[in-house]
Amino acid sequence: AREVRLVARPHGWPEPSDFELATSELPELADGQVRVRNELISVDPYMRGRMNDTRSYVAPFELGRAMEGGAVGVVEESRAEGYAVGDHVLHQLGWREEAVVDAESARVVDTDAAPAPAYLGVLGMTGLTAYAGLVRVAQLREGDVVFVSGAAGAVGSVAGQVAKALGASRVIGSAGSQEKVDHLVDELGFDAAFNYKDGDVAAQLAEHAPDGIDVYFDNVGGDHLEAAIGALRQGGRIAICGAISSYNDTEPAPGPRNLARLIQVRGTMTGFLVPDHQDLAEEFAERAAGWLSSGQLSSRETVVDGIEHAVDAFLGLLRGDNTGKMLVRV
Ligand code: NDP
Repeated sequence: AREVRLVARPHGWPEPSDFELATSELPELADGQVRVRNELISVDPYMRGRMNDTRSYVAPFELGRAMEGGAVGVVEESRAEGYAVGDHVLHQLGWREEAVVDAESARVVDTDAAPAPAYLGVLGMTGLTAYAGLVRVAQLREGDVVFVSGAAGAVGSVAGQVAKALGASRVIGSAGSQEKVDHLVDELGFDAAFNYKDGDVAAQLAEHAPDGIDVYFDNVGGDHLEAAIGALRQGGRIAICGAISSYNDTEPAPGPRNLARLIQVRGTMTGFLVPDHQDLAEEFAERAAGWLSSGQLSSRETVVDGIEHAVDAFLGLLRGDNTGKMLVRV
């Protein structure tokens, strides 16, 4: 089966030559394992961090070995109780066509209840990130004015819609193209959106949130974070989810120049990681199912076909080629 390996650690923007498509033989199944043919694999911004040889909350990818990541596939052979041939499973051995998976690190998903892509997106880690960030980290309250960056991406699009569903009075999003801006306002129910490439973020935010914001859901960092601090009202809360504007930087980016404004407005800024909020998964799954059926929440994916294009999909994600969750169909 084919798999994508990291063969060189990127410096700055990853290059196609940092990766290799190789073929490997799958081992025989041991007790408690299943053989899975992957159908969909997830490419995610955090994978850029795992390409560096630095200690973080997840171990770096090993050079010369297949990378890992979320995937949904079909069980083709099973030596694990509760896993039958034909079951769809969610597991962590993405970036390859087939995998031998320890059943205890996988879970069966019901593709009649929701389509397979949803388990990697709106109903998966992505959706939970948006929910935990808003509800627990930013302590969203009814009537809040909310700003979401990276708003047309996987996490951001859910964050904006969930904020609305939870009673935010106004939700503003930023994204990198006019098509994405139109999508946010026309299809996802954002009250306003702007293209951050059109000009100064702070000025555009001020135009759309003239009285300031109560909550900022940060996927981007950099000038977006500085603009949000500048617009924060008394008691405002910032949830630091990601800082994608700096993931390919070779030198650390300067911090927000207006950080001390948090003192004046008694604002808070809190970083968070979704694995710490698994206890909210059930509550989120229930509420998300309701919002999906009422139409308050909709999801979209950008799907790239072929394992041989998985690296292009990942590089495209970093460039903003995706609207909604970026996935690879194997
Ligand atoms: P997205 O689907 O949002 O894809 C990334 C998007 O980032 C692109 O589509 C692009 O859209 C945007 N982008 C790229 N470069 C820049 C830039 N310089 N400035 C502004 N936007 C940029 O990915 P995810 O939804 O999976 O992840 C979103 C964020 O959430 C990331 O920062 C990620 O690291 C973080 N995250 C954090 C988790 C946690 O536990 N804390 C868990 C999951 C994700 P555009 O066209 O708009 O530029």
